[in-house]
Amino acid sequence: MSADTQVAIVGAGPAGLLLSHMLGEAGIDCVVFERGDREHVGTRLRAGGLEHGAVDLLRSLGLGQRLDAIGLLVERTDFRFDGRGHRVDFKAATGHNFTIYPQYEIVTDLLAAHAARGREVKFNTPVTRIEGLDGERPVIRYEEGGAARQLNCDFVAGCDGYHGVCRPAIPAGVIRVYEEVYPFGWLGILAQVAPPSLEVAYSCHDDGFAMSSFRAPEVSRLYLQCESDDRAEDWSDDRIWSELVRRLDVPERPAVRPGPIVQKSVTAMKSFVIEPMQYGRLFMAGDAAHIVPPTGAKGLNSAMADISVLAPALIDFYRRGSRARLDGYSAQAMQRVWQVQRFAADMCRLLHRFPGMSDFERRMQRERLAYMTGTPTGVLTYAENFVGLPFDA
Ligand SMILES: Cc1cc2nc3c(=O)[nH]c(=O)nc-3n(C[C@H](O)[C@H](O)[C@H](O)COP(=O)(O)OP(=O)(O)OC[C@H]3O[C@@H](n4cnc5c(N)ncnc54)[C@H](O)[C@@H]3O)c2cc1C
Repeated sequence: MSADTQVAIVGAGPAGLLLSHMLGEAGIDCVVFERGDREHVGTRLRAGGLEHGAVDLLRSLGLGQRLDAIGLLVERTDFRFDGRGHRVDFKAATGHNFTIYPQYEIVTDLLAAHAARGREVKFNTPVTRIEGLDGERPVIRYEEGGAARQLNCDFVAGCDGYHGVCRPAIPAGVIRVYEEVYPFGWLGILAQVAPPSLEVAYSCHDDGFAMSSFRAPEVSRLYLQCESDDRAEDWSDDRIWSELVRRLDVPERPAVRPGPIVQKSVTAMKSFVIEPMQYGRLFMAGDAAHIVPPTGAKGLNSAMADISVLAPALIDFYRRGSRARLDGYSAQAMQRVWQVQRFAADMCRLLHRFPGMSDFERRMQRERLAYMTGTPTGVLTYAENFVGLPFDA
């Protein structure tokens, strides 16, 4: 099949870079287009935690060295409600940890692996249009150094996030879009201070959700439920810390530790899925195809799980000439995608205060939390979803 490259990958986030790495190791030619610069891509502060399936995948690809050296193992979640803490030991329930290893570290490892093997990522190179997806040779139109260029390929991987160009290239009526927008946002902060403990705490407080997590032994990551239209600059550091203390602190648990806030931002909360995740020669993965509210810590893991299905399907095509696995990509990936959506949406509904909640709804929320943290079935259900359903690597 004549083409300028075999697989054109749009987007150098974790999904695009992981796919490029896996295809490159299998000897498949690909070109990665990224509209941002290297600095932007390598330092974006986003997800922080890896499921065991994601850790196993990175190790199997020879990308586990820094992860094993600096990743922090978490064994428990502490749920705060009724004015006290309720620990769920997910390690004891499942045998698996959750690993704190920030998204920018994974991207750093993937970029280093690309550099070591002489594989180029085209930074500052936005894709502007994609044509011919239902033909034999799709065309990628892009801008490079101010000039309009094009490249032919066998397949396109749409790894370009929620605001990318690949999804709009699918003709109207081909995909079904599912979307749920939640009536609140998350104010997230990064603070240069050690976390109260090396465990993740979720608080379901009368004044709204709060969460305490971390990115490194001296770097805390905390979140507060806020209004969807709040701006980060409207929240002073003092207001943030006093609200975190009020919502998170309970007796017999280490108290919130205020410290210098080095970054703050407001994130919208939504659930979003397209179905199917493929059209013609285009295969969608990661945030380009699905978004979860961050309550379950699933976005990054879900993107990696997609690639663990898509990369072997593409490799199978080039090794054996069969499209069977590629044709089944969406159906296979979607099984996990929807289970992750279920968990993330359940966690979002369980832990936040919704406008206009009745006393009955609040009481149900409390009873679901009590069941989830206080019964073996509840604990196991939370634990196996949080540490992650199996990857299909
Ligand atoms: C503020 C924030 C906080 C988050 N926190 C968490 C968290 O705590 N836990 C969690 O699990 N997940 C979190 N997520 C989600 C997680 O970061 C994403 O699920 C993950 O980044 C998905 O990876 P991806 O590669 O699919 O998409 P992205 O990381 O979005 O990468 C897509 C890439 O495509 C590029 N691109 C877009 N359009 C074009 C174009 N036309 N041409 C070329 N390149 C293009 C973009 O510049 C980008 O680099 C968070 C997300 C955000 C935004």
